[in-house]
Amino acid sequence: MFNNLTERLESAFKNLKGEARINDLNIANTLKDIRRALIDADVNYKIAKEFTDKVKEKATGSKVINAISPGQLMVKIVQDELTELMGGEEAQFNITGNPAIILIAGLQGSGKTTFSGKLANYLKTKKGKSPLLVAADIYRPAAIDQLMVLGEQIGVDVYSERENKDAVAIAQNAIKEAKSKNKNVIIIDTAGRLAVDEVMMTEVANIKDAVKPQEILFVVDSMTGQDAVNTAKAFNERLDFSGVVLTKLDGDTRGGAALSIKYTVEKPIKFVSSGEKLDTLDVFYPDRMAQRILG
Ligand code: GDP
Repeated sequence: MFNNLTERLESAFKNLKGEARINDLNIANTLKDIRRALIDADVNYKIAKEFTDKVKEKATGSKVINAISPGQLMVKIVQDELTELMGGEEAQFNITGNPAIILIAGLQGSGKTTFSGKLANYLKTKKGKSPLLVAADIYRPAAIDQLMVLGEQIGVDVYSERENKDAVAIAQNAIKEAKSKNKNVIIIDTAGRLAVDEVMMTEVANIKDAVKPQEILFVVDSMTGQDAVNTAKAFNERLDFSGVVLTKLDGDTRGGAALSIKYTVEKPIKFVSSGEKLDTLDVFYPDRMAQRILG
């Protein structure tokens, strides 16, 4: 994951090798290399610039402690700033409510349905919850089938109404079903489109208004870099979602989405999905991710 970024940052820090202390002059190349590494990882120029400005401020303002070299100090500062950029603290995930309602939104192919299955599995096995998956995609019968298969694999019930073309009504009926069957979390997998589209947005917004979810998770393919960030912006303007799920982190992704989304939409990344298997879901910890990026 983010291999290229990791290598590039490592090589940026080498600029400080043999230096006794940090000064404006000797960190110039390091900062330039860090900025370029971020931009090549598909981080927006403005974010990359602001990032290195902050690093510079911290680095030139800090006293070098004897035990730590300028290179090590720089690594520490960059690690702290990366953590901050990705949200700082671990975000809360709200599953209070009976049932707690979680709405899943995103483009088609982003990994929504797979994530819905993984989340149900996580809540069942790690949090002792009794989830109900809801197939609210009224356009693609295959999406219902896909969720059914996932539900079967993890032993979680799936609610669907194949003949009903009213996604809001399906979601509302699912809540009734959950109550009657003592399910305490509902995960509603909504229809996606290939690109941001008014009909899709209106539909998800209507479901939101009708069921008042505790969590609205926006699912996005991390391989899509800056596009992921722009899509996040569009969904957030309409849905005011509560968190982001980054998928396909097992692929050859450069890192731009992970690094820029929180800054751009001011919503935390809550989960990362890194594989097609159902147990490849992790809670997102900004500090651990920063550590991994630095290798
Ligand atoms: P949806 O259209 O948003 O519901 O997307 P799907 O859940 O159907 O996922 C689209 C494709 O991406 C499927 O082939 C999934 O198996 C695959 N996929 C989903 N999540 C991941 C992931 O984290 N890693 C990888 N490698 N593939 C994934």
